[in-house]
Amino acid sequence: MSFEESERLETVPPSGIRRYFELAEEQDDIISLGVGEPDFAPPWAARDAAISSLERGQTSYTPNRGLRELREEITAHVADSYDLDYDADEEVLVTAGASEAVDLAFRAFHDPGDAVAVAQPSYLSYVPAARLAGADVVEVPTRREDEFKLTREVLEASGAADADTLVLCYPNNPTGATMTRKELEPIAEFVREHDLRVFSDEIYAALSYEHDHTSIATLPGMRERTVVFNGFSKAYAMTGLRLGYALAPPEAIESMNRIHQYTMLSAPTTAQHAAIEALRNCGDDVAEMRAQYDRRRNFVLSRFEEMGIDCFPASGAFYVFPECPWDDSEAFAEALIEEQGVAVVPGGVFGAGGEGHLRVTYATGLGDLKEALARIEEFID
Ligand code: PMP
Repeated sequence: MSFEESERLETVPPSGIRRYFELAEEQDDIISLGVGEPDFAPPWAARDAAISSLERGQTSYTPNRGLRELREEITAHVADSYDLDYDADEEVLVTAGASEAVDLAFRAFHDPGDAVAVAQPSYLSYVPAARLAGADVVEVPTRREDEFKLTREVLEASGAADADTLVLCYPNNPTGATMTRKELEPIAEFVREHDLRVFSDEIYAALSYEHDHTSIATLPGMRERTVVFNGFSKAYAMTGLRLGYALAPPEAIESMNRIHQYTMLSAPTTAQHAAIEALRNCGDDVAEMRAQYDRRRNFVLSRFEEMGIDCFPASGAFYVFPECPWDDSEAFAEALIEEQGVAVVPGGVFGAGGEGHLRVTYATGLGDLKEALARIEEFID
């Protein structure tokens, strides 16, 4: 007997981001601009709904796909906000965070040797999820000169045409890039031409500051080949409640649910009650949080500009992605924690195209942001 890791697991390195949180935890007086987590608490109405569901003893499993009432709220919300038309019975799966939905999709649709093209820099879970599903990863590096938007040219140059799946995340973690409908059109055209499926992680859809969010699933011929991921962690500041969802054609949801019903049974019940209330009555809270993020975004961008650091005007999520003043962004991030007590994440951990940059999160109060940027300025000087 041994606990020798499976060959698949050996292809998955420990998270490159954890190390910076651990370094930060070892020190006093740290300001963390590292973690991608809202500093707000969930809206009170959503918390109250969770509490009162507990008081009523509503703690059983729910249907595998999630409470019907929640699925109806989700489909009404995405129709209203993003023009996405999905059926509450057949085309929605409520999951334990968007993370679970991502994992299910990778496992449901890939065989060993399949190829997954990932637009990078990207959120850290796609590559491990692809590898654990046995798929090979094709890196598609987006570029600073394109403001980290995906282009047809980059897709063609990276070999994505031969992939089975293309993974997109706009608004993007870690760059803060967004894509307009017009910019998505050539991507959708490429996808149709090469008969790819798309996994579109839209968890930051509610945090698009310069234009309305467009889901690639709303472009012609895309709905039938796309799985959309979304959730409650970012827009509603509900990270620890672990609630997300997938939207896709019936046969895709059916397949993902076949894994989900064995591995999860159902998403957290208390969180589902909170989410129903969040969708029904918390639109104003989301708008208020968005306004605050937007103020902070403008502040952080203007401070980097004052420091003479190149930082493209991020237009979504709660990250900016400035150029690192040193060649080695890992060394910079470590020294910044040790000498100034400010945690940021070196861009290289987010894959191709990320090296030479830093991910700076502005899901932190303005007071701390001001202090952290003053310390960064002092450090650079
Ligand atoms: N996708 C992206 C792009 C994220 O940034 C995150 C959280 N950092 C997730 C998915 C995971 O979200 P959840 O909490 O819903 O699992």
